[in-house]
Amino acid sequence: MLQDDKGRSVSYLRLSVTDRCNLRCLYCDGSISPRLLHGDVLRYEELLDLMGLSATLGIGKVRLTGGEPFARRGFMEFMEAARQRFPAMDLRLTSNATLITPFAQRLAAAGVARINISLDTLDAPTFHRVTGQDMYHAVRSGIDACLEAGIRVKINAVAMRGVNDGELAGFLDLARQNPIDVRFIEFMPMGGASWAPEQVWSAEDILREAHTLADLTPLARDAADSGPAQMFSIGGGKGRFGLITPLSNHFCGSCNRLRITSGGTLRTCLFSDRVYRLRAALRHPKLGLPAVERILRAALRTKPLGYELLAARRSGKVCATGMAAIGG
Ligand code: SAM
Repeated sequence: MLQDDKGRSVSYLRLSVTDRCNLRCLYCDGSISPRLLHGDVLRYEELLDLMGLSATLGIGKVRLTGGEPFARRGFMEFMEAARQRFPAMDLRLTSNATLITPFAQRLAAAGVARINISLDTLDAPTFHRVTGQDMYHAVRSGIDACLEAGIRVKINAVAMRGVNDGELAGFLDLARQNPIDVRFIEFMPMGGASWAPEQVWSAEDILREAHTLADLTPLARDAADSGPAQMFSIGGGKGRFGLITPLSNHFCGSCNRLRITSGGTLRTCLFSDRVYRLRAALRHPKLGLPAVERILRAALRTKPLGYELLAARRSGKVCATGMAAIGG
């Protein structure tokens, strides 16, 4: 099992397959960050090799993300190839679900048991305003298709004052009526299009209001299979409600993750701009995976505590790069 210099076990990889996205969310950087050149994007074979290395190092859980994974051609076939090569791996996916409907059954057949779907609003015009695209109904179909395929769905909504702070009741109803976990995530000051302190709708405020709208009971973290989210059952509901609090209540002490971008850079902390370039080593005929492993182990000797970086930041942003390029 991999361990970092602070004794944290690392067992979870977030692997981005593309920095491209078909949405232009106002808080993300899908439209503004420089895109990778085709040749700089890791080929699917290379991504599989990185997953294989991760597996040998004890990483049993890999989340494929982006950009939007389904915006990359051949993504479904890649998932199927990943399942064939790593039958025991816990394969997960994060998607905006706009393009997922035709693939839901194949995802289920490939053993993708859980999908995180990003959806910040239940109002079609607001969706258009947030994402730049008129695709709210495509997302809702995608969610339905995943549920029909038997995939567990978690919806992640970025909590934003002035955008979705009037929608708590609607989201609670969605979780009450469907076997869906709805999680609000605090709006993080990442590189990207826009962030201002007054746009942050804090977890504390969300929870106070949620308690007035629903009968919420906190769940133990382990029992909830929730990662860093604090989850609540909803009285009489099929789904659950949760909060992810990177700003107000960090979870750095138990952070077990690494991120590798579609361009092959390793990031050990979301709030750090420090990157470790794996691509050149991976592609070098005399270096390859053993060299990648050395870089990875060296990087773990300085895996930061993100909350320290958050506290020490001088500008508004904690990290110059936005989530589309890093892989959320
Ligand atoms: N396209 C996929 C999707 O929409 O889920 C995967 C990539 S997206 C960058 C991953 C997640 O990052 C989304 O849930 C998005 O809402 C979240 N995200 C992006 N920028 C964020 C920010 N500044 N604060 C909080 N969450 C953010």
